[in-house]
Amino acid sequence: MSQDLDLFVLGAGSGGVRAARMAAADGARVAVAEERDLGGTCVNVGCIPKKLFVYASHVAEDAHDAAGLGWSMPRGAFDWETLLANKNREIARLNGIYAQLLDQAGVRRIAGRARLVDPHTVAVGEERYRAEHILVATGGWPSLPEIPGGELGITSNEAFHLKRLPRRVVVVGGGYIAVEFAGIFHGMGAEVTQLYRGPLFLRGFDDDARAQVAQEMRKRGIELRFDSNAVALERAGDAIRVDVSDGSRLEADEVLFAIGRHPLSADLGLEEAGVELDANGAVVVDAYSRTRVPNIWAIGDVTNRLQLTPVAIHEAMAFVRTVFGGEPTRPDHADVASCIFCQPPLASVGLTEAEARERYGAVDVYRSRFRPLKHTLTGRDEESLMKLVVEPESNRVVGVHMVGADAGEIIQGFAVALKAGATKAQFDATVGIHPTAAEEFVTMREKATS
Ligand code: NDP
Repeated sequence: MSQDLDLFVLGAGSGGVRAARMAAADGARVAVAEERDLGGTCVNVGCIPKKLFVYASHVAEDAHDAAGLGWSMPRGAFDWETLLANKNREIARLNGIYAQLLDQAGVRRIAGRARLVDPHTVAVGEERYRAEHILVATGGWPSLPEIPGGELGITSNEAFHLKRLPRRVVVVGGGYIAVEFAGIFHGMGAEVTQLYRGPLFLRGFDDDARAQVAQEMRKRGIELRFDSNAVALERAGDAIRVDVSDGSRLEADEVLFAIGRHPLSADLGLEEAGVELDANGAVVVDAYSRTRVPNIWAIGDVTNRLQLTPVAIHEAMAFVRTVFGGEPTRPDHADVASCIFCQPPLASVGLTEAEARERYGAVDVYRSRFRPLKHTLTGRDEESLMKLVVEPESNRVVGVHMVGADAGEIIQGFAVALKAGATKAQFDATVGIHPTAAEEFVTMREKATS
């Protein structure tokens, strides 16, 4: 029997859950189908467990730094199984909260894989649902390379469930996930080698920030090998042998591929219903997240715009306002801040220096590198970087970049200033909080030469 709904959502990740809840709050009859755990990538195998791992990976460093601050700490031991059990408990709690939020909003939860039968009908198992609107929010999945033995490697999905902490890890890739996991495994005591196919990783971020992260990772003892890639993997007893493009060989207990994520759009009946997919399988949408089929919409990673949880949530809110709020609203993808939780973290908002030069021609750059106050006592050889990119004609700050402790927390605030169109003069007129690292952003007066 078919059941009539105003909205059927495929996928209960960050975007799908937000859209379902908000639409239901507007009085819509809503169902959401999920074939895995509620909360999607972010809650189960992404942002949340990753950040918990990052906290864990910092402890050895903090304990080491404690000596200069007067504390003598016994050398502790790290237990992976405890961390995993605690992490799993927290994720289960969050899964429960997501269920509760959907139930409280009156959204019907359906466990199972949904597939479009036609533009208004969705099938889950034997059940058929008729819906006025359909929202595809099925997310993405980490990719594996097509190289001999590629299947011996793991992705971030498996990294969150390893039975034991690997002693030697090879990380392949140079984006968010690769850099974050290199720091995580290193902090927990593993020997880490990271391979990146280009001359400098973190393509798309500001060049000074990229170089700074590389410098700080190397200081910590992570082996970064640029212009190199894994070309073949082979089992060697309990270990995995990695053939590197430069002809060398590495041996590791785990090889983590973090080479990008692809949209989960296959076998959903999308193309048969008339929805267009691009060459990467991403659902093609207009500025309002509408597909080529007028009543089918898509948000989040499956559209491959910006693969970030807060962006999926933002797109969900715009979708609900457009469809159920009577107010056509385009999600705004400009100046979205983000943070790579490496050690120390890199966060930024707005344009890189190179992007700003391309857009505006000449730009003013302000740059500060300094040793964080804390490390004057701990003795740690760590350097922070802060950088402002200013468009000289309007005096507007168009890029803010930081590598240093708490960069994510700091840049979040500056993202508001950038979004509000703050000028360098307004940054200068702002009195700093002393002593903080963040005050550097309002005290930089000397233009840097490139
Ligand atoms: P990214 O797209 O960030 O990076 C992929 C990396 O893999 C790039 O360095 C790329 O190199 C490299 N690569 C691609 N194909 C190959 C290949 N065949 N062989 C070797 N290297 C390859 O992807 P991630 O997997 O790191 O993360 C996916 C997305 O998830 C991110 O873009 C981000 O949007 C999101 N995310 C956000 C986080 C956060 O906000 N903190 C954390 C984790 C993920 P090249 O540069 O040369 O193309």
